[in-house]
Amino acid sequence: NQTCVIIGASHAGVNAAFALRKEGWSGPITLIDADPHLPYHRPPLSKAYLTSDDDINSHLLKPISSYQQNDIELKLGVAVEELDAKTNTLLLANGEQLTFGKLIIATGAHAFVPPIAGLADAKNVFTLRNAEDVNRIRETYRNLAEQQRQRVAVIGGGYIGLETAASLRKMGADVTVIERESRILARVTTAQMSKFFTDLHQQRGVDIATDKQVDAISVSDSGYVLRCADATEIQCDMVIIGVGVSVNTKLAAQAELMLENGIAVNAYGQTSNPAIYAIGDCSYHHNPHYDRKLRLESVQNAVDQAKVAAAHLCGKPQTYDAIPWFWSDQYDVKLQMVGLSDDHDEAITRQEIEPNKFSVWYFKQHELVAVDAVNQAKAYVLGTKLIKTRQAVNKAHVADTSIELKLANL
Ligand code: FAD
Repeated sequence: NQTCVIIGASHAGVNAAFALRKEGWSGPITLIDADPHLPYHRPPLSKAYLTSDDDINSHLLKPISSYQQNDIELKLGVAVEELDAKTNTLLLANGEQLTFGKLIIATGAHAFVPPIAGLADAKNVFTLRNAEDVNRIRETYRNLAEQQRQRVAVIGGGYIGLETAASLRKMGADVTVIERESRILARVTTAQMSKFFTDLHQQRGVDIATDKQVDAISVSDSGYVLRCADATEIQCDMVIIGVGVSVNTKLAAQAELMLENGIAVNAYGQTSNPAIYAIGDCSYHHNPHYDRKLRLESVQNAVDQAKVAAAHLCGKPQTYDAIPWFWSDQYDVKLQMVGLSDDHDEAITRQEIEPNKFSVWYFKQHELVAVDAVNQAKAYVLGTKLIKTRQAVNKAHVADTSIELKLANL
């Protein structure tokens, strides 16, 4: 009846706790998080939660009763400060010490803030990672909007930056997205998808400024001035920084766990210390389908890894073997991406008659490796199946909308 302690009560940690009970873990389970709120869904933060007046309690991962029924102890609003792997002891910020038999690190990541001169003097600058961040953004934006000061600069044209831009535009803001690379989404998708999202945002009135690195911010009479490396100046009343994350590896480093691009784990989610597992955004793992090491930032990955770690801890090992997938909602566009498209050698587009409805099918040496589906859930579902089973795909059928999509593999 060992105790299992889980650090981080978000998508990975919460799913691990419930999966442990489901697989028969009979010892105590303690979930600890620095965030004071009951664990909640993170994806709505840049979408429905930002544009609404919702309380975060309407986006909970589980009702409080589920934790009680499953005998899962929650310690919220307290950070774990130290991890001693020699004595299996944790030191909490409130001075409490806890010992564990097994430990799951599900500490995720935090928003990265690039070096920008003058940042410390600018009050209305935010990152967006947790509910409190969004509460502050909502409140500040509303106050500014009342004074007709609605110019928002979003630094970073990745998914979080673009979702935030779409949400703020919906709320009436004048939005400029500032991207250092030559195209938005450069790190995560192809030029074709970048172009689609650039057009989508521009049609909705968002300015997209690429090839611009923000170096400095200064307070002006009418708000802020962002100065870019090429001397461009952008005026705004509020800034959201969404340029990516840094993995929370402090505790793993204290425990001398092997670190690569995150906390290195094996196919069961186990770190270099067999009593300690790492799952979700903080873990660096091998993906057998693509035979590559990956660190993924997605809900699905957090859930999959939670199940794998729990099964192993309960003596029912099953190896991790998932195809990565991710979604993003911007305006009335739902993007669903499955697989890894970064090293494809051929891309085929299936454009439906309706606007903003298409899918891009990526191949590597004729094998389907990824599908990006825009408002086309069927393509995402079929693509997932075909990638998983490595089935041959008839490319001509994929491109031909007179042929039903489900026949694409014939
Ligand atoms: P996290 O969610 O980062 O949770 C880690 C937890 O650990 C945090 O609650 C943190 O407080 C806690 N913690 C860290 N260190 C300590 C410590 N020392 N002591 C105590 N607690 C600690 N994914 C999708 O698939 N689709 C989407 O549409 C999507 N949209 C997103 C929108 C936003 C705004 C954000 C921020 C993320 C989005 N994601 C989306 C990504 C997804 O939310 C993450 O992949 C997922 O939350 C990862 O879960 P996790 O449990 O691994 O880590």
